[in-house]
Amino acid sequence: MQTLQGKTAIIVGAGIVGLAHARSLLLRGYQVQVFERHPAAVGASIRNFGMVWPIGQPDGPLYERAMRSRHIWQELCQQAGIWYDAVGSLHAATTALEATVMQELAGLYQHRGVRWLSAAELAAKGAASHRHHCQGALWSPTEMIVEARQAIGQVAGWLQAQGVAFHFGTAVAEAGSGRVVAGGRHYEADLVLICSGADFETIYPQHFAQAPITRCQLQMMRLAAQPAGYHMGPALCGGLSLIHYKSFEAAPSLGALRAHYQQQMPQYLAAGIHVMACQSPTGEITVGDTHEYGLHLTPFDRAEWNQWVLQYLDSFASFPQRAVAQTWNGQYAKLTNGATEWVAEPEPGVWVVNGLGGAGMTLSFGLAEELAAKW
Ligand SMILES: Cc1cc2nc3c(=O)[nH]c(=O)nc-3n(C[C@H](O)[C@H](O)[C@H](O)COP(=O)(O)OP(=O)(O)OC[C@H]3O[C@@H](n4cnc5c(N)ncnc54)[C@H](O)[C@@H]3O)c2cc1C
Repeated sequence: MQTLQGKTAIIVGAGIVGLAHARSLLLRGYQVQVFERHPAAVGASIRNFGMVWPIGQPDGPLYERAMRSRHIWQELCQQAGIWYDAVGSLHAATTALEATVMQELAGLYQHRGVRWLSAAELAAKGAASHRHHCQGALWSPTEMIVEARQAIGQVAGWLQAQGVAFHFGTAVAEAGSGRVVAGGRHYEADLVLICSGADFETIYPQHFAQAPITRCQLQMMRLAAQPAGYHMGPALCGGLSLIHYKSFEAAPSLGALRAHYQQQMPQYLAAGIHVMACQSPTGEITVGDTHEYGLHLTPFDRAEWNQWVLQYLDSFASFPQRAVAQTWNGQYAKLTNGATEWVAEPEPGVWVVNGLGGAGMTLSFGLAEELAAKW
């Protein structure tokens, strides 16, 4: 890879977007400094499922970006000793219509190794859904899990060991061409990247105010650690996830399924609920989620929404330990115009990279590689 010895970069934000760019610039010979307002990243990147999720991306550039990210995640986890589990994913069908949509998708995504599993094949996978009379499931081999709450700090630690300078607990108050002001001091660099996640008010607030961007708040839970030796197998979703991901829109029967949910469970659609579960290295099960959009969102979680999530989870999965150990919420930046990222240059040499929505863990490393050609 061609290096640019002597070039310098400042990155604002130590979430996955900032870290992915720190990695890609480091590999290209930049001297990189990362500024993070908190003593450690505590934003969307540590609050998520840690699902690296190519199955949610449509064929073409986004799927390729997701697979490139997955490759980088895997390589980085191996290099830095970060836990990951390349478990793949299952979408469990509890109705004939869900089964039809999944069979259509299995046909459309054969080239990805996606397959329809019969109920018997599903049971043979040892999955958490097998006790549930599911009609079958959509299996995909490409999904992997990282433990986000550890992995983000570990990626930062690994980058630091490779020479990236981190300024934790240091908010950037102002940015401009070739410079930032942070903690009352001035810093200079050839390139400034603003990867500030759901903070739209501190740097370039006027640009954020005009951008097609909003926030999405999600409620999440963790079930207590499962008995020693229990492994839930692939990450698991219910049918509602079929209407959540772009890649599934290609199924001819999806419209009928959406209409069915709208009629049968309108409160789930109103709360933006679809239910996913995966297992952490300590045996807990991460479960979510709900979706609420807007610039001003209540900080108060709705217990009722969490109950709906758990009720729906019970319809397609069961776990030996079902007690809820933790609840939390998280916010990500979401574009309102259907775009998958917002990359803008408010001043020469200063770039904002934001708006990856619910797919930042899946797409950031690949996006950072693509954008490196731009700087
Ligand atoms: C509950 C939940 C579940 C999700 N599940 C998944 C999933 O399973 N798979 C997936 O692919 N994606 C998932 N996502 C989406 C993914 O987490 C986000 O797309 C991604 O984390 C966004 O990364 P980011 O770096 O832009 O934001 P953040 O992680 O929020 O990082 C931005 C950072 O910038 C810092 N910052 C902001 N302003 C300043 C400043 N002025 N000075 C210094 N520092 C500043 C903040 O403190 C913060 O640490 C989920 C998101 C949530 C909330």
